[in-house]
Amino acid sequence: MDLHFTGDEPTAEEKAAVDGVTVSAAAPGGKRTYLLPVLHAIQNRIGWISPGALNHASRVLDVPPAEAFGVADFYGLLSTKQQPQAVAHVCDDIACKIRGADLLCSALEKLHGPEASSTDGKATWHRSPCLGLCEQAPAVLVRTAGPKHSDQLLACARATDVEAAMRGSEVWQPPLTESLPQAGHAGLKLLKRVGEVDPASLDEYRATGGFEALRQAIEMGPAEVIREVIASKLVGRGGAAFSTGQKWNAARSTSLPRYLVCNADESEPGTIKDRAILEGDPYALVESMIIAGFATGCEHSYLYTRGEYPLAARRMEHAIRECHLRGLLGDNILGTGVRFAIEQRIGAGAYICGEETALLNSIEGKRGEPRNKPPFPTQVGLFGKPTVINNVETLINLPHIVLEGGAAFATIGTERSTGTKLFCLSGHVARPGVYEAPFGITLRQILELAGGIGGGGKLQAVLLGGAAGAFVGPNDLDIALTFEGTRAAGASLGSAVVMPFDDTVDLRPILLRIAAFFRDESCGQCVPCRVGTVRQEEILHRLKAGRTLTSPDGEVALLKEVGQAMRDASICGLGQTASSAIESALAKFPIFQDKLRESEA
Ligand code: SF4
Repeated sequence: MDLHFTGDEPTAEEKAAVDGVTVSAAAPGGKRTYLLPVLHAIQNRIGWISPGALNHASRVLDVPPAEAFGVADFYGLLSTKQQPQAVAHVCDDIACKIRGADLLCSALEKLHGPEASSTDGKATWHRSPCLGLCEQAPAVLVRTAGPKHSDQLLACARATDVEAAMRGSEVWQPPLTESLPQAGHAGLKLLKRVGEVDPASLDEYRATGGFEALRQAIEMGPAEVIREVIASKLVGRGGAAFSTGQKWNAARSTSLPRYLVCNADESEPGTIKDRAILEGDPYALVESMIIAGFATGCEHSYLYTRGEYPLAARRMEHAIRECHLRGLLGDNILGTGVRFAIEQRIGAGAYICGEETALLNSIEGKRGEPRNKPPFPTQVGLFGKPTVINNVETLINLPHIVLEGGAAFATIGTERSTGTKLFCLSGHVARPGVYEAPFGITLRQILELAGGIGGGGKLQAVLLGGAAGAFVGPNDLDIALTFEGTRAAGASLGSAVVMPFDDTVDLRPILLRIAAFFRDESCGQCVPCRVGTVRQEEILHRLKAGRTLTSPDGEVALLKEVGQAMRDASICGLGQTASSAIESALAKFPIFQDKLRESEA
């Protein structure tokens, strides 16, 4: 391989950080698949990816330095520029924006100077896209590099908390039950253990029925498990709503080896549900992944966890290790000869890696850019092999399907959206958090379950499905929250974000934040999305300022045209949905009309 290195050499510390990662040339995908873990190790130890460290990483992993730089530069949680050791990533995305994020940013600006600067060289801050703690807004992720590296995700953050975390103190965080208003309620399935059972204890998990489904699945055999999953009509919970049973069936007829990947990279603004499972019931995910691997004939799997979820990653790592030690993962699971392994990979701050093929590239040590489909991952996936990708929430339905039977599962919910669903309530709602309810509950009912509108005013709008979803109004509260019901209403369920805004909120900055989010998160590999997301944001700025290029109507028409071009010609869902929430808001609410009138006068 022709490698062109600069003359930069690593320091002893940088060398130790790289060499501290165990790298196996015999691993599936070779040494390059360790690039992201190695970059994390450098970032955590040094606070940035220096040229010397990158050269050393490239030599160790046989990756051309230019490509390694391209990967390091791709992710929001990695920095290729020198920065202070303590960095606060302050979420100013939509849920946090309406809960004081801008005031928090002003306070940090007074203490440390403008965003990305530093008055003392030791600490800095900058604004961040959604951190997945929307129910406890405003959220801040404080990362401190060094031998005692730490990541703290702060809930309901105040400037004093951020300061303390940046100085290295551990800041008290509310228990997970604060995010689960239904904790302990009878009738919960997916959330039944969350907040009730010690997530670190394998014994408690087993005492509450854990691993009974795996034992039963092994007795049933792969074909029977797949039959039950098909009978359950389970569809993917990540947003695409594809039949899980069909996906598995397609995978079973492919060549070996094949891989299972669990997508735990929920990054859609407003989405908080998978975090509750990862933090609160990690063994349930391990058990579910083993069942999925057994049924689909995968012996090796990857769990790709959001980089913004440090506690979730630690809990999952602990659960995986414990299961290995107790014979529940490895070469002879439960003494049955079944083989299955889980490797956790931590994301590094890229929304697009929630797209399944971008995630595969990220695991392979490449930039997290989506691939063209077809071929679909079930045919050509990770390392070019057939790969089954399922989301966390999809997987944790499996033990219930195995134990209760697919037909019984299919009686819950509606004909086309079966089972229960985790809903993500944030924004102006009295009791924000993760809620479990059968599919078919209406928007009005889920808002009532969460205590109703919690701001100071009346309901103005609800964002359904996150930034890639759509806004609906107070007249739409009888929408049934199912895949088919939201589609019929011109919205989408997506990752089940339900984010109400009361009428004290100016929706213009909210739309601008959504536009900035997509402009920032576009991976840039296809023109309609790369350029369209920029143009979309520019149009909104002109409308807000009342300085239109042609006429206000002309700007709105242009916005729709840009949206259509992105829908028609973008490679992946990001570009295809980047305009949907904005267009839905402009169609439903008189958002820019004062400016439109001013400019017409
Ligand atoms: Fe990348 Fe956007 Fe194209 Fe998706 S649509 S591949 S995010 S540029």
